[in-house]
Amino acid sequence: MEQKILRISYSALDTFKQCPLKYKYQVVDKIKTLKTKEAVFGSVLHKALEWFHKQTPVSPTSDELLNKFKEIWPKNESVFSEDEDMIYFSEAIKILKNYYENYLKIKDNFSVLGTETRFEVMLENPQNKKEKCLLTGIIDRVDKTKEGIEVVDYKTTKKLPSQEDIHNSMQMSLYCLGVINRWPQFAEKGIENIKLTLYYLKHQETISTHRTQEQLNKIQEHVWKKLKEIEASKFEPLPSVLCDWCGYKKICSMWKHLYKKEFSIDDEQAKKVVNEYLALKENNTQNNKKINELKEIIERYLNNEKIERIFGDAGFITRLNQIRTGGYDLKKLEQIIKTLPRSIQDQIHQAKKEDKKYTVIKASLKKIQKDGQDQKI
Ligand code: SF4
Repeated sequence: MEQKILRISYSALDTFKQCPLKYKYQVVDKIKTLKTKEAVFGSVLHKALEWFHKQTPVSPTSDELLNKFKEIWPKNESVFSEDEDMIYFSEAIKILKNYYENYLKIKDNFSVLGTETRFEVMLENPQNKKEKCLLTGIIDRVDKTKEGIEVVDYKTTKKLPSQEDIHNSMQMSLYCLGVINRWPQFAEKGIENIKLTLYYLKHQETISTHRTQEQLNKIQEHVWKKLKEIEASKFEPLPSVLCDWCGYKKICSMWKHLYKKEFSIDDEQAKKVVNEYLALKENNTQNNKKINELKEIIERYLNNEKIERIFGDAGFITRLNQIRTGGYDLKKLEQIIKTLPRSIQDQIHQAKKEDKKYTVIKASLKKIQKDGQDQKI
């Protein structure tokens, strides 16, 4: 029987991680969408840098790089408004000027082996060796350095990740495997000679990492875990700040109401309900804030007076000590535990977390007269 080989790109895996619904729109349903502004901005910068590093043997000057960028910057069918166009365009020019200056400082340390380099990695399912997956990807730039080889991936995001994030990045591990597959001679000298770098263009900052054989072994398991998650996924939306970069925002169930153009009576009614709900929630927040302030004053008073109950005209407030055990009905739980073998009973008791003691302030709206019948509380 012919062996089934799954095919997936690194960027598809990354899209699923970002939002399963976006993955469905893009990879399963193959819905074409206009690129967002950030995506256009990033892709033109990538193209300009690809062109720059492909010119051999003499590297282009800064002016030549900028001219190339101006030539490929989208004009007629641009996604930018006039004002945005100016802002994004000048930011890109600034980035390229800084990039060029930085390049002059480091240009003698490397030679470019490839730009927009495609790679493929065959990953076997550790749980079922018959299942295989061909993972593909594109690396922005691969350099030959004195130490070995360096993978460079350009980023146009503002936020810089931590060194820890890069150390655990699935992208960097897969790129490392991709490079080993493509240029095995570098891995023969030791994978510690493969440097993996993210180049943050807006900051002209790089963050680098290396991989160990152990990490590379683990990534296979990790990718297969993700593939199984995709297989079982119901493709729920996962809204985040990244929605602003998502081309499916207008059709996504999380956002499409915002873009609705015609409103029925039901829609108008629903809007009113939402506004009323939000106003009540806001009142609740304010009330809770005030209640917490009053609680503090009451607690102070109870402490000073060394009492546990305080009376007002409309009722009274009691301070109670309670023990919480993580949401279980202790009596019922103990009954169940008694039916188990002794050794398991002991294990459960050992695993039981410490009970937590809480103080609660309980309010009772009940008028109390000193000598009346209501005194029995
Ligand atoms: S707009 Fe956000 S939630 Fe909707 S598909 Fe795109 S990323 Fe997912």
